[in-house]
Amino acid sequence: MAFVTRFAPSPTGPLHLGHAYSAILAHDMARAAGGRFLLRMEDTDLERCRPEWDALIQEDLRWLGLAWDGPILRQAEHIASYNTRLETLETKGLLYPCSCTRSDIRAALAAPQEGVAFNVYPGTCRHRPMESRKSGDALRLNLAAALESLAGVDLCFTETGPAHSGLHRVDPDQAMRQIGDVVLSRKGEDIVAYFLASSFDDADQGITHVIRGEDLFDFTPVQVILQHLFGLPTPVYHHHRLIRDDHGKRLAKRDDARAIRKYREDGATPADIRRMVGLPSP
Ligand SMILES: [Zn+2]
Repeated sequence: MAFVTRFAPSPTGPLHLGHAYSAILAHDMARAAGGRFLLRMEDTDLERCRPEWDALIQEDLRWLGLAWDGPILRQAEHIASYNTRLETLETKGLLYPCSCTRSDIRAALAAPQEGVAFNVYPGTCRHRPMESRKSGDALRLNLAAALESLAGVDLCFTETGPAHSGLHRVDPDQAMRQIGDVVLSRKGEDIVAYFLASSFDDADQGITHVIRGEDLFDFTPVQVILQHLFGLPTPVYHHHRLIRDDHGKRLAKRDDARAIRKYREDGATPADIRRMVGLPSP
């Protein structure tokens, strides 16, 4: 079986130990399987992404000894195509415009924070036709209609990560309760939801195995539903443990003390980094 995986950082800050763990794990799993390790920059947040972070991430990865295969996919170059593809759901009548507050919508589009469940939308705008869409409106998926259009389809994914290993079936009733009408984009602005863009990219890059932090496990059912709506394949998922700080909190971009660059400046070696995150030498 082919094995193609990717590391997909956002160039909004330096790589830290948590990123290094994710990248090394994905790289090592690909190499062990005789597969490919690809790099993707999740750079759709034009306000926060910087070319200098993009360059530093590449430099850190090379320093760690992680060579990626093929060109880097940069999401910002594909936003028009994401929006065009989204129109197929509009044609199927599965989208509606929503004018609920901008901060709510911005939060809904971002990748999740650990421990924050989906904010299930009460459906206030569900009755609105697409013609009533105004600039700045979000586009939401009508999940009930989407699930109805997928009736009889086996919505499932295989997980190989330690915490949830096995075959998972998406339960439509549970999806309605826990996911609801997610925001997929904001019309007129170059923003699409994290889980939509990454589903398109996984298909475009031929990803067979998604290796990522376990904070994204709860997003997987939404991605499986979207993959079926767009006729995309569902990869195997491997959600790994998170690297935590001394207080048990997940590392964040602002944890500069644990930036790979800082360790490099302090004289650490790539082998030291592997040891720190609990991965064997190559
Ligand atoms: Zn609304």
